[in-house]
Amino acid sequence: MFCYQCSQTMPGGCKVHGVCGKDEDVASLQDILIFGLKGIAAYNYHAKRLGFSDAKIDSFINEALFTTLTNVNFDADRFIEYVLKAGQMNIKAMEILDRAHTARFGFPQVTKVSTGAKEGHGILVTGHDLLDLYELIKQTEGKGINIYTHGEMLPAHSYPELKKFKHLVANWGGAWAKQREEFDDFPGAILATTNCVLLPKDSYRDRLFTCSVAGIKGVKHIKNMDFSDLIKKAQSLSRLKNKEGITILTGFHYRNVLELTDKLISLIKDGKIRHFFLIGGCDTPGKKGEYYREFARIVPKDCLILTLACGKYRFNDLDFGEIEGIPRLIDLGQCNNAYSAIEIVKALAEALNTDVNSLPVSLVLTWFEQKAVAILLSLLALNIKGIYIGPVAPEFISKGVFNVLRDKFDLRLISQSEKDLQEILK
Ligand code: SF4
Repeated sequence: MFCYQCSQTMPGGCKVHGVCGKDEDVASLQDILIFGLKGIAAYNYHAKRLGFSDAKIDSFINEALFTTLTNVNFDADRFIEYVLKAGQMNIKAMEILDRAHTARFGFPQVTKVSTGAKEGHGILVTGHDLLDLYELIKQTEGKGINIYTHGEMLPAHSYPELKKFKHLVANWGGAWAKQREEFDDFPGAILATTNCVLLPKDSYRDRLFTCSVAGIKGVKHIKNMDFSDLIKKAQSLSRLKNKEGITILTGFHYRNVLELTDKLISLIKDGKIRHFFLIGGCDTPGKKGEYYREFARIVPKDCLILTLACGKYRFNDLDFGEIEGIPRLIDLGQCNNAYSAIEIVKALAEALNTDVNSLPVSLVLTWFEQKAVAILLSLLALNIKGIYIGPVAPEFISKGVFNVLRDKFDLRLISQSEKDLQEILK
């Protein structure tokens, strides 16, 4: 039996603390808090690298981690308070990261991104860290190397200080889970900047590099953003050939969407926009994730879809068209741009003089990774009700805790896309 106090597994339970295994809900809340803290730490880390921080976040991370060692472990109600406070702190962390990104790289502009390839050497950059990408783009200028984004790096194309570089050419591949095939297909060198990098196939191991917090045994790690070895490697590898791709739109920072507020409100009032769906999150590999493509596909034509994070790759190749010039698929960016979603929802509620739960807005989220836990906690901390999550309930959420979330926040598990859609729109 695992003792939450000693962090050890002991046959028959811990003789010192005598509490292990007795309360699976407390253990579940502790796991939720720890996973949420990892997500907050990730956003906090990226912001700090760009010179932005908030002492309240650091202090909360310390305190909340410490609670996992103290007797608060055995008080579920206190733990729920910490879990919701973690949600609030994550909003702060996403906000300072947004400030850091926009101060350093400018405000995102709605941008068309090709999924094709351009003749020449190439480096594919995956992960989330825009600073590493920026430094690499600068160091490759004039060296005959094109830079491609992968997965969560797609929104980089919309930041003025990144998009101004002509050799940032396209996006290659989609969500993290397919990277072993996608990296295999990419003939150039590859840089992984953060989490969600998988153990590589032998076929591309020697073309893969890590930096910053990413690291894989046997894979060359770059320190202090000196990308010279990666650049040399890329120059030694085969050149990519010109390849047509499709075009995807990104860069809908909340400021770009809020500029449309008056138009959106009048379209809502005229009955031309019936509902907003936020469909996205951390993509979960496997067949069950196809729910999100199907759901997005059947969303009626008088509804808009907001999306973010790598869950969008389930459907962002589809043509959703427009409503009176507004694209029906609005890509807000990386998972941390959930902050944009929150700002949009708050602004719509204010403009329509109502509360967020009375808006024609529904959230259908896919979750898999710890940042998704932090974001869900943020949404719950804002008291947003009726969120659908899937494709399956995370194993670290006990039945008891899930019931509390269901009763307090009307949290729902996805079922069938048509059934869920009908339930939402009825
Ligand atoms: S959105 Fe989530 S699952 Fe996807 S790459 Fe980012 S952290 Fe990983």
